[in-house]
Amino acid sequence: MKPGPFEYVRPASVEEAIAALEDGGYDAKPLAGGQSLIPAMNFRLAQPAVLVDLEDLDELRGIRAREDGGLIIGAMTLHRELERSTLVAERAPLVAEVMPWIAHPQIRNRGTVGGSLAHADPAAELPSVMQVLDAVLHVRGPDGGRTIPVDEFYLGLFTTALEPGELLTAIEIPPLPAGATCAFEEVSRRHGDFALAGVAVVVETGADGAVARARMSLLSVGDGPVLAERTMASLVGRALSAESIRDAAAITAEDLDPPSDIHASAAFRRHLAGVLTHRALDRLRA
Ligand SMILES: Cc1cc2nc3c(=O)[nH]c(=O)nc-3n(C[C@H](O)[C@H](O)[C@H](O)COP(=O)(O)OP(=O)(O)OC[C@H]3O[C@@H](n4cnc5c(N)ncnc54)[C@H](O)[C@@H]3O)c2cc1C
Repeated sequence: MKPGPFEYVRPASVEEAIAALEDGGYDAKPLAGGQSLIPAMNFRLAQPAVLVDLEDLDELRGIRAREDGGLIIGAMTLHRELERSTLVAERAPLVAEVMPWIAHPQIRNRGTVGGSLAHADPAAELPSVMQVLDAVLHVRGPDGGRTIPVDEFYLGLFTTALEPGELLTAIEIPPLPAGATCAFEEVSRRHGDFALAGVAVVVETGADGAVARARMSLLSVGDGPVLAERTMASLVGRALSAESIRDAAAITAEDLDPPSDIHASAAFRRHLAGVLTHRALDRLRA
């Protein structure tokens, strides 16, 4: 398949990119690694009239250390760079852990963190990971800059809080609190395929051994990343134990209303979500 006709713009600065996006309105789209957008255009699922290529915008690339122990990651940073970064492994081990699950090396060599987050595919790993890490997204548009907590970024299927003309420029990840541990689990038919279900979790344990705060987000079971609110609440105030983990897994499965499609039925996805919750929490109990 071939895409429909489109105009191609390759700006040299973020300001130029924003101006080009503003000119194009709803018909203009940023192009990052092209690993989702180009296939969608080839299938005519997306038909932007103007493509604004972000390739030359070096100011959107790179991984920087925040003084407080957190990270700032430019939107155009490649998946592969995150996968290989020692800084990411040290400061955001959950991001390092999830990278090999995302597609295949060829795709990770072109795909970007900003593209993954802005695309808002409900089966993508990074939205859930950023959600449990309490990440904040930096956005710039014709009216200036703003920040959006991940919890407020995802509005529905392939839909985000980005307005036309706005660019995601960076992702800020706060430091992991003392006593926090994290895990990621997913099931896909073949390694590198989109997940049938997945779960990202961060658990903060207090000095008394009880869970002080828990963040859990699931992928591929809803319209976007699904925060497991009742599961998180069920973990707080109790030490991670066989019983608390069994309860958490049961609540996760019970609360979900996943879609059925050619890849998996809703019932199978619900079952998987419970199993993956169990596996992820069990790893943190050790
Ligand atoms: C075979 C295959 C398997 C894959 N498997 C997985 C998988 O298992 N898990 C997974 O998460 N992903 C998977 N992907 C998708 C891959 O991770 C993509 O790289 C990613 O989703 C999009 O990143 P990109 O940089 O290529 O963005 P693009 O395709 O260039 O853009 C995607 C969307 O985001 C918008 N966009 C991009 N950058 C910005 C920005 N800075 N600001 C605002 N909007 C922006 C674009 O306009 C477009 O709408 C797979 C892709 C393929 C082809």
